[in-house]
Amino acid sequence: MRTWQVETQCPQCGAPITLKEAQHVLNCPYCKTRLYLTPKGPFRYAIPPKIASDETIFLPFWRIKGLGFTAYLPPKTVGKPIDKTYLAIDIPLRMMSLGMRPQATKLSFASVEEGPFVHPRVNFKDLLKRATRQIDSTLTEREVIHKETNLFMSGLGDSDPFDHSDLSRWSPSKTQTVFKKYEPVVSVFLDEGNSLIYFPVIPESGTSVILNDGLTTKPIGKMDLPSLERFTHNASESLPSPGTLPLLCPNCGWDLKCEEESWAVLCPGCNRVWGIRQGHYTPIPFEIPANEDPDAFYLPFWKIQTAVPQLELHDTRDLARFANQVRISSKSSPLHAFIPAFKVQPRLFLQICKVFTLAQPETHLADKIPKNSYPVLLPPQKVQKLIPIVLAEIGAKKDRFFPELPQVKPEIKQVSLAFLPFKQTGYEVVYQESVIFAIPRNALKWGRKL
Ligand SMILES: [Zn+2]
Ligand SMILES: [Zn+2]
Repeated sequence: MRTWQVETQCPQCGAPITLKEAQHVLNCPYCKTRLYLTPKGPFRYAIPPKIASDETIFLPFWRIKGLGFTAYLPPKTVGKPIDKTYLAIDIPLRMMSLGMRPQATKLSFASVEEGPFVHPRVNFKDLLKRATRQIDSTLTEREVIHKETNLFMSGLGDSDPFDHSDLSRWSPSKTQTVFKKYEPVVSVFLDEGNSLIYFPVIPESGTSVILNDGLTTKPIGKMDLPSLERFTHNASESLPSPGTLPLLCPNCGWDLKCEEESWAVLCPGCNRVWGIRQGHYTPIPFEIPANEDPDAFYLPFWKIQTAVPQLELHDTRDLARFANQVRISSKSSPLHAFIPAFKVQPRLFLQICKVFTLAQPETHLADKIPKNSYPVLLPPQKVQKLIPIVLAEIGAKKDRFFPELPQVKPEIKQVSLAFLPFKQTGYEVVYQESVIFAIPRNALKWGRKL
């Protein structure tokens, strides 16, 4: 997937720094400052205009990026990466999305001094619905089934189709290609945090105001003067730049360990895992199975203790019944959903959720972070929304329970981070405990860019 670059300065020494999009951590190569960026509301970026003009105004576009998952009827679950931009105000512009423009240039964090930034008017949630609907339309295009039909052959001219005297004209088993109609039942979007991108336009006055593209100067729309004034009067008065947290453990002061796009940060000093909520560090309980294997590579999962009364799912015995699986142990234990805290392409992501939730790996609270672990990229509050889709993937009697999915409200009882051990081979990492499952290394590498 495409990535953007954002130009900013080190808040400590002012040195220029280029951040990748979705990079949460700022590392200054000059003064060695390391900071965790905490946006206030959405991240707000601006595309710098090519031509300097006092007239420039900035129009807002919402960016929708992440993994979209939808359960359909007839029963089917689909996951797709989504990466789109939408004009966030209601004006007839020739340019309703930014297309490739953000990649073609370096973005900056939007700041009110640069010119009027028009306030977004279109609701993010409505756009999200539109974006997930687009997954639906691609599905109907692709999903062609071949069906045996008693089809009256076309090209019979004016003959009476009800005249059955010549039965040879009937073709009893011709293959017909029909579009199967899928109706979405539940959609979940694992977003990366919404962001706004402001695009520069230069208004050119005349009988009506022409809006010129601030990069190419080509006209991209026009509007009447009062409407334009209404927009610029409504410009945002402040565009808060992201807040920062020093990457020092709030408990012991040690340097926190994390990758640039990590959501959670680890403290090797006091062996704690910290998540970030509302601009503050919060401790995250973590678990590993029995003793640490020093040769293993640990992948982080969110282990979510849950119950789903609407589907009569309360413990592992219920889960086995729901999945139509024979369980050797008749013992019932609390039910946990296991959802990756890392990113891979959506199809594989769902498969991992299914395999590990069915396997219910046993893990226990630990006081030492495994030496060799993969970064935690996804926050728990986002992945737990995925439980209905995971259940849709797991359940056996899909025709029966899919129509009930919109009513499914999983109860979340406890959330912890479970590090599960994988053996490393040349091309894969392989889980070899209660179940055997391999993940290609390339899938993990590619997933970091999702
Ligand atoms: Zn610096
Ligand atoms: Zn610490």
